[in-house]
Amino acid sequence: NAPAETRKFEAEVAQVLHLVTHSLYSHKEIFLRELISNASDACDKLRFESIAKPELLAGDSELRIDVSWDPEARTVTVRDNGVGMGRDEVVANIGTIASSGTRRFLEAMSAEQKTDARLIGQFGVGFYSAFVVADRVTVLSRRADLPAGEGVKWESDGKGEYSLEQVELAERGTAVILHLKADEDEFLKPWTLKSLITRYSDHVAFPIRLPLEKDGKPSDEWEAVNAASALWTKPKSEISDEDYQSFYKSLGHDFNDALAWTHNRVEGSQSFTTLLYIPSQPPFDLMMGGRDERKGLKLYIKRVFIMDAAEELLPNYLRFVRGVVDADDLPLNVSREILQQNRQLERIKAACVKRVLDLIEKLARDEPEKFTTFYKAFGNTLKEGIAEDATNRERIAKLLRFASTKGEGSTQSVSFDDYIGRMAVGQDTIWYITADSHAAAAGSPQLEAFKAKGIEVLLMSDRIDEWMLGSLHEYAGKKLKNVAKGELALDEADKKQQEEASKVAEPLLKKLKELLGDRVSDVRVSARLTDSPSCLALSDYEMAPHLARLLREAGH
Ligand code: ADP
Ligand code: MG
Repeated sequence: NAPAETRKFEAEVAQVLHLVTHSLYSHKEIFLRELISNASDACDKLRFESIAKPELLAGDSELRIDVSWDPEARTVTVRDNGVGMGRDEVVANIGTIASSGTRRFLEAMSAEQKTDARLIGQFGVGFYSAFVVADRVTVLSRRADLPAGEGVKWESDGKGEYSLEQVELAERGTAVILHLKADEDEFLKPWTLKSLITRYSDHVAFPIRLPLEKDGKPSDEWEAVNAASALWTKPKSEISDEDYQSFYKSLGHDFNDALAWTHNRVEGSQSFTTLLYIPSQPPFDLMMGGRDERKGLKLYIKRVFIMDAAEELLPNYLRFVRGVVDADDLPLNVSREILQQNRQLERIKAACVKRVLDLIEKLARDEPEKFTTFYKAFGNTLKEGIAEDATNRERIAKLLRFASTKGEGSTQSVSFDDYIGRMAVGQDTIWYITADSHAAAAGSPQLEAFKAKGIEVLLMSDRIDEWMLGSLHEYAGKKLKNVAKGELALDEADKKQQEEASKVAEPLLKKLKELLGDRVSDVRVSARLTDSPSCLALSDYEMAPHLARLLREAGH
């Protein structure tokens, strides 16, 4: 038998505890959502393990989450009959920073030096949020495959140490007991608990129960208080917007409402349901660590949660999408390796991409305000799809918006279709310029001749634009060209004028070539300029200076 002992938290845990307890103060009620979400994960895990080992459910096959309060002991308890934890798991999961979300939270908070509740909501700070309302937390846990004698009791005041002890636990699963701080009595009211459960956890797929109150005390009678339905399995007509929003929040990682969603059922040789959401704000780590480990898209098979499978179900450029995919025909014992080469999954993935693009197109067409919000948050991520998804390149390009010499300032609102609609008769090129900033693009002397001729130029200044343009050479049959490259096609009158000008300038050009020597490949009279005396131009096959600089910065 392992002896009782006291251990120190990993240094980072102490740091997280400090940050969480201080920054979550105005949203302290989320501890309940976090603990219920852990309990629900534990039930999911047991249900999954029991496919191969049905005996794990023996005697107690109805997975559930019980929340109760004790007015005398001043405790709130969240108990589940899920998978539970062994001693080593308790140490690994709640004595160190097991949760990747928590680790990223810590990194982001230290990098930003600020603790913004909006950010916190996106990370899911998990178990440690218990210490926002409790000055002591006790965890009793027994793994489903271990005997009653191998229960674990973990306890801590959240200050730096925790104790561990082996105890006898008759039931499998985990109980988290919060010893409330002096001024947190509101959580001892069943009404408060109930309203928090329906607000944040209504669509958790297991019943969440509260004891009925009798003489100011919890009785032995329990009542399920959440909807506990797999929302996506209901017909759309029976689901309200509030239901969709509340389910979105129960997926975790966002306090805010979703911007839009798409819910579809495909019947046929292969049947599946998708419920996909676009958030209203980018998660903090979208452009940073977000690539390695993507959460938020859950794969279910016949309503059994299988795994987070964002990477298997969506391409990288749609990594902001959250939601659920429920497939009827995949084998329940599917592994990540199998998923990666599964043909059926390929089809589901293609369907998800199509649904999301349909949804974005619908926003662009019918809800311009929402589309603007979407584009601000995720436009640059979407641009990655131009390179990543050749099949949908044209559809994605159609959704892009840029600033333009005929647009409004730096606002990115001009589509390729807008541009084409304004093209002069005979114009067969979509002209653009790339630069480090909008001001540099808009003020470039390269634009003078285009302005003089009334030709619109798209002004691109996002870091990703140059890279994206490497994969986008034409749109709707029109070539895309950088104004800084090659020759501007001239009409006859212009050509004559330019030839004359060249003749007159001959001696000057010769002199300039001598002076500049190797530093330039040619000096020419140009039709590009109207006001500025000179500018640098690139040949068709040269790299834009902006891209050259990016590559140099990256060490190439
Ligand atoms: P996350 O849920 O994002 O992994 P948490 O801090 O909420 O992070 O939880 C840390 C880990 O502790 C979980 O990943 C899980 O392994 C374990 N854990 C927490 N609560 C429970 C529970 N009720 N049953 C089983 N394991 C749990
Ligand atoms: Mg959690």
